[in-house]
Amino acid sequence: MADNKLVNKFRELLGKENVFQDEADRLAYSYDAAVLEPSLPSIVLRPTTSEGLGSAIRLCNENALPTTVRGAGTNLSGGTIPSPGGVVIVTSAMNEIVEINEEDLYAVVQPGVITAKFAAAVESKGLFYPPDPGSQAVSTLGGNVAENAGGLRGLRYGVTRDYVMGLEFFAADGELIKAGARTVKCVTGYNLGGLLVGSEGTLGVFNKIILKLIPMPAAKKAMMAVFSEVPKASETVSAIIANRIFPVTLEFMDNFTIRAVEDYAHVGLPVDAAALLLIEVDGHPVQVEEDAAKVEELCRRMGAMGVRVARDAEERDKVWEARRAALSALSRIKPTTVLEDATVPRSKIPAMIASIDEISRKFNLTIGTFGHAGDGNLHPTILTDRRNKEEWTRVEEAIDAIFYRALALGGTLSGEHGIGIAKSKFMEKETNRATILYSRRIKSALDPKNILNPGKIIGE
Ligand SMILES: Cc1cc2nc3c(=O)[nH]c(=O)nc-3n(C[C@H](O)[C@H](O)[C@H](O)COP(=O)(O)OP(=O)(O)OC[C@H]3O[C@@H](n4cnc5c(N)ncnc54)[C@H](O)[C@@H]3O)c2cc1C
Repeated sequence: MADNKLVNKFRELLGKENVFQDEADRLAYSYDAAVLEPSLPSIVLRPTTSEGLGSAIRLCNENALPTTVRGAGTNLSGGTIPSPGGVVIVTSAMNEIVEINEEDLYAVVQPGVITAKFAAAVESKGLFYPPDPGSQAVSTLGGNVAENAGGLRGLRYGVTRDYVMGLEFFAADGELIKAGARTVKCVTGYNLGGLLVGSEGTLGVFNKIILKLIPMPAAKKAMMAVFSEVPKASETVSAIIANRIFPVTLEFMDNFTIRAVEDYAHVGLPVDAAALLLIEVDGHPVQVEEDAAKVEELCRRMGAMGVRVARDAEERDKVWEARRAALSALSRIKPTTVLEDATVPRSKIPAMIASIDEISRKFNLTIGTFGHAGDGNLHPTILTDRRNKEEWTRVEEAIDAIFYRALALGGTLSGEHGIGIAKSKFMEKETNRATILYSRRIKSALDPKNILNPGKIIGE
């Protein structure tokens, strides 16, 4: 793209220090956390103000430039891999927490605010922002909203969508659109915010986000249930829910992942266990004691060899340190890590875990499985080496098999990682042709020149 005249215009709008064209810079924005081919943009823009962001989008639209907005680039579905020669707009300089309103329990943020920084700022006021993707130390709230990110607390607290009260976003033509409000209730107009949450940068670019806050629960208790057989662990997940207990977190880890984490983080995990469930309950102290006792009793009844209840905050932190280390620990084992997020109705978790095991044997691949079992959301993680073409073919076949199995069990392609380009080819399999065409009509009505993250989710 970028002829000199246009580059100069971007420089005038954003300041020349916020316009990047060097190959090294472009390379840095050519890929994300998905295992996909990178694609070089021709220019990277870093607006520092709303005006800058809006006018950059307007200029991109006037010149029909494919434009990919990017937070931290941690998405796992290729959502920030730009179109070849396109524009990347990075939101890292729009990182202000504009307001935390303690009276009305909401916050207003710019899209580039780091998730964990926001959660900590809110917590310092005794408030709680529950969505906590594993990447929260680096991911941005804009990226979380665009992916409708989940995390470890989805079972009780829901996902990002459940906390978005309002959005201010730039449409493809650079016009500022306002959706939602700072009120608990708002039915003014179409639910545009609902359309934009999870739209992966294809329908608009967030400028400001209004997020719901809730009071911090008074007490928490974490525990680790140890199982000698995987089916017993997976059946316990369903049993906990069936007994109407809704822990904040209900995570699964198989033996391969347990050993990888212990080898990496040395947190004292039982390496001989076939599977672990990591569970946390929260709420009023009396309720927490009651729920924790019920969960412990249920785990034992379902066949757990042991249940370790964290005695204090330090032990609790260790449980979550172990869980959060899972991906990093697995990633050390082979050069390429493919993290999937097949999701099934909760009652189908035992069947899905068994199927992943079968698929791993059928395709002779190393797969470590962990994830948000309480949400039916597993992360089978294939450890491989992309340079080995023969093995990579088997990996692709195994990924297809995992998705098809999840769909056959009444599940979905993605519980939280989004579709991007990685899974767009499967969209029709889960929905139907009419749904894809309907979605494309929305896209072309709102972005007639198809500049915003073209090709993502619904293809072209
Ligand atoms: C180690 C690791 C752990 C993870 N754990 C989880 C997890 O537990 N749960 C989970 O849900 N995900 C998880 N993820 C995936 C990822 O972190 C999330 O999808 C996250 O929301 C992406 O945020 P980001 O700032 O990196 O966004 P990016 O990757 O930069 O962008 C993601 C999408 O959002 C769009 N976007 C970004 N900013 C804007 C904006 N201002 N306006 C409009 N669109 C925008 C982009 O175009 C892209 O389509 C994990 C990833 C890693 C690497």
